[in-house]
Amino acid sequence: MIVAAVIKRGKRNIMVEQDKTTDYWELPQNILVILAHPDDPEFFCGASIAHWVLTGHKVSYCLITCGDKGTKDRSIDSDELCSIRQKEQRLAAGILGVKDLYFLDYPDGYLVPDLNLRRDITRVIRQIRPDILVTCDPTTLFTLNAGLNHPDHRAAGQATLDAVFPAARDHLSFIELWRDEKLEPHVVREVWVCGTREPDVILDVTVTWEAKIRALYEHKSQIGDPEKLAERMRNRRTPDSTIELPRYEEKYRRLILG
Ligand SMILES: [Zn+2]
Repeated sequence: MIVAAVIKRGKRNIMVEQDKTTDYWELPQNILVILAHPDDPEFFCGASIAHWVLTGHKVSYCLITCGDKGTKDRSIDSDELCSIRQKEQRLAAGILGVKDLYFLDYPDGYLVPDLNLRRDITRVIRQIRPDILVTCDPTTLFTLNAGLNHPDHRAAGQATLDAVFPAARDHLSFIELWRDEKLEPHVVREVWVCGTREPDVILDVTVTWEAKIRALYEHKSQIGDPEKLAERMRNRRTPDSTIELPRYEEKYRRLILG
């Protein structure tokens, strides 16, 4: 399989030809996706995740909240919704080839980037020890399509970046993790920030766009009519492509830390 990715660096666009194993990373990477809600990984970066798994990388998820407010159905409570959404998340992840999921079970809608959250995320980073970490941009208040970004997305991005640097790196940060839980410090080599208004990496994910849609189908409690969702997602083709020959992209800001 040949997939082309456009890596945008400053004013230069670099076309990278990728085969099954060569990527922007030469060796298989351990990738950890940390986001606020079940369904965020698929909506924000599902096609990239499918591509990364297909090209030999290992991807894990950490979902911070249960997504337990996301319904208009008055017959179910937050506990029930939490278990529905975690089940849906496992199925969706499975479609993309992701088997390892960690749920922090914070309540949906109330997330704040405090020290408890930073400690919990630091713990996960030190346990999974990712080469690459994917999270969302905490500075995005207004989305590109004239909407408001969810406060949990901003809080999740902020707490995750704060955990990456410097808390996960320094053994004296949250010393109980090192002293009592025997979790060694860890340096994340790269952070890929999704949901950003300032991307510098554009991935062509045309090949795996349908896998993203199939994964999104599993979030039955969230997506409404699956046909309408599919139509909406297929309409996200790039402006330079056509219905007959669509092209799709997912965009990131790439931070090199290690
Ligand atoms: Zn979300």
